This record gives sequence, C-alpha cells and structure tokens, in this order.
Amino acid sequence: MRVPADAEQIIEKLNEHGFEAYVVGGCVRDSLLGKEPEDWDITTSAKPGEVKAIFSRTIDTGIQHGTVTVMLNRQGYEVTTYRVDGEYEDGRHPKSVDFTTSLLEDLKRRDFTINAMAYNGREGLVDAFGGMEDLENRVIRCVGSAVNRFTEDALRILRAVRFSAQLDFRIEDETYEAISLIAPNLEKVSKERIATELTKLLLSGHPEKMKRVSDTGASRYISEPFFKAAVLSKGELRPLGCLPAVKYMRWAGCLRREQGETAADILRDLKMDCDTMDRVKILVSRWRTPIAAEKPAIRRVMNQIPGDLFDSLLCFQEVFAGEVGEGYGETLKMVKTLAEEIREAGDPVNLKELAVDGRDLMAAGMNPGPALGKTLNALMEQVLERPECNERAYLLRAAGLKNGIKES
Ligand code: ATP
Ligand code: MG
Repeated sequence: MRVPADAEQIIEKLNEHGFEAYVVGGCVRDSLLGKEPEDWDITTSAKPGEVKAIFSRTIDTGIQHGTVTVMLNRQGYEVTTYRVDGEYEDGRHPKSVDFTTSLLEDLKRRDFTINAMAYNGREGLVDAFGGMEDLENRVIRCVGSAVNRFTEDALRILRAVRFSAQLDFRIEDETYEAISLIAPNLEKVSKERIATELTKLLLSGHPEKMKRVSDTGASRYISEPFFKAAVLSKGELRPLGCLPAVKYMRWAGCLRREQGETAADILRDLKMDCDTMDRVKILVSRWRTPIAAEKPAIRRVMNQIPGDLFDSLLCFQEVFAGEVGEGYGETLKMVKTLAEEIREAGDPVNLKELAVDGRDLMAAGMNPGPALGKTLNALMEQVLERPECNERAYLLRAAGLKNGIKES
C-alpha cells in the first residue's frame, strides 16, 4: 500500500515521540481497492493534547471526539486518538467517548469490516475482523453483532446501503436481516445525517440501490413523503447513473415525477440546503416541457433558467428524453447546436445584457415604478425574438422614448 509522504511523515513523527499511529478506515479500504482515497485519516495512541504539542500547525476539529487536524504542506490530516464509544443513549450520540491505548479497541468500534483496517509502514496491514476477505468477496458486514451495531447507531443501516451502492458490494445476510429489524430506530437519527447518506447513495455508481432502502422497510422511518414520491423501480432509477454526479441533478432525477413545489417540500423536510432545493424545484417543474428547436424559443428558456442550470436542464432532458416525448432526443440534438450558436453569437438573453437599463429609461423621461419594469421586460421579449434589435437608440424608440425626450 502506498501512503502519501505527508501522512507517512505524521505517523513517523508520532512514532518518534513514542506513540503508535496508523492510517485507518476509508483510506485503507479505498487504496486496497486500487482507488485514490479522498482523504487520509490517522488513528493514534497519542491524546489530542499530545498531538497538538508535537505538530506546529493544528486545528481543533473535534477535540471532544479526539480529533485534531494536522496541517502539512497546506493539506489537512485528521488525527484521532484511539477511542471506544461509550454506550449510545439514544441511538444517536455515544453518551461518552473514552480514549484507549489499544488499536484493536478502536477498530472494534467501527461500522464495517472493510472500514476497520489500519496500516502503517512498520507493521503493514492490521486486519482483525476479516476486512480484506470481505473486500475480496465484495461484502458489507458489520464488525461483531449487526443487531448491536445498528442498535448503537441506526445511521449505520444507511451507511451499509450507501457503501453497497458505492462499491457495488453485497450486504451479508446477518447484516441485511438486522437492517429490517433495527430500521425503526432510524426515526431517532437526525434528518441531516440521513440526507448526507442518501445523497452519497444517489451520487454513487448504483443509485438504483435506493430501492433497497424501501425493500428493507427502512424507508418508512426515514421520510415517507420522499419514498412515496420518488421513482423506485430499478428501471426508473438506473438512468440516474447517466446524469452527472451532481447532487441536485440526482435528487431531481429521483423526484422527477413530482410537482416542483412538492419536491422542494420533501427536500426541506430532509433538511436539504436551499441551493439544492431551489435547483431541484426548477428542474423538476421544467423538464417535462419540450423545447422547440428554434432560436427565439431557446433564448426564452435561457432567459427563464439561470446560467448553468440551462445546461443541466438539457442534460436532464437528454437522459429522460423518452419520457419527455417520442423523438425528443432528435429535437434535443438540434436544440443543443442552436444553443451553442446563440452563445457563440453572444445573443443577449437576460436583462443585464439588454442595451438599455432602468436608468436609461428614466433619463429618457420615464417615471420610476412598475411600468418601468414592464417596459424593460417587453424590450427583453423583443430582443429574445430578434437579438439584432439590442441597440440603445432602437430600444428607446421602441419604448416610445427618443434620445432622452419622451415622444408625444
Ligand atoms: P467516505 O469518506 O468515502 O464516505 P469513509 O469510510 O471514510 O468513507 P467516513 O464517514 O469518512 O467514511 O468515516 C471514516 C471512518 O470512521 C469509517 O471508515 C469508519 O471506520 C468510521 N465510521 C464513520 N462513521 C461511523 C459510524 N456511524 N459508526 C461506526 N464507525 C464509523
Ligand atoms: Mg472519509
């Protein structure tokens, strides 16, 4: 296994001070799978205060959980003290976090065997729970008793499904059975944590595994409105994988049968961020309407749908072209070509690009007020139809104004 030089350096420095240290969890799993890990987490016998004393630049990321971020060459590495999670009082938070000096104890608290491996250059791989074998057999299995692990933290149920979707792994039988059994505990898990896992599932290579969440009966305890509204057959979910791995696009794909407003309400209930909610709402309300393959119509859509969302809309319609209408895929190809021409020509498609603004109209004698906005919109409409009209003098004339003097 190849550990980046910086992480190696942190481990060595901890060793020099008499502490154990390993890379652990997701990064070990991913590099064993031949994937580049997103971040390298380090687990150590050093207490947070000791870690802070050793490294010159650190951030208190989650001191109460034993996590300190060590900054090295502008990169942050999370260094966490070996810990055992205390009893979970509400299936949500461990009552207490106790530090330990045993790596094994720390590995034992982790959710799945494939996430419970550690590595360093001196000792090689520490795999106490058969994680390597499960990686080879492509299996998600809890560390220890699945029922107990899900009872401690029900979010692990969704993590199991999410990892099975990201890695395309099977969920081992005992683990799968425990999911159905403990699913009611998901009611106690915060919506934010749930939404994070569902988003990761949707962004994975196998979004169709969302179906598994309802198959296990877990959906009832997560968000009934979402699972009622979402497309859930494999055939309908699979095309989601053809959408770019962009959060709002995948959620919109899932909710594409809904009204925009309802989709937004469902996401609000899942404590989704406003930007995602707004974008999903626009896509979901707009995608079913075909766009005509003619420039004025395309410019109008560009005018209604801000910036990059227009491209997302085309992309969305492309994936679900068959659902928009028969033969729409062909129309869409022409729409794309024409949209490119519109952009190359720099045709004005929004008020900012109009050759006159409110101040111009007022300087030309118009009074401020609603009529002014109406006039601007009417001029915009003309320019969307005929971009060559986007000329100051022409537009002022068209508005019944002339070079600063209101025509009588
Ligand atoms: P990724 O970051 O790619 O989503 P990951 O495995 O790194 O995957 P994280 O959520 O970053 O997942 O957690 C890091 C490690 O912490 C996991 O690999 C696992 O060992 C442990 N872990 C995280 N969440 C839990 C949990 N709810 N219960 C038990 N162990 C957990
Ligand atoms: Mg991680």
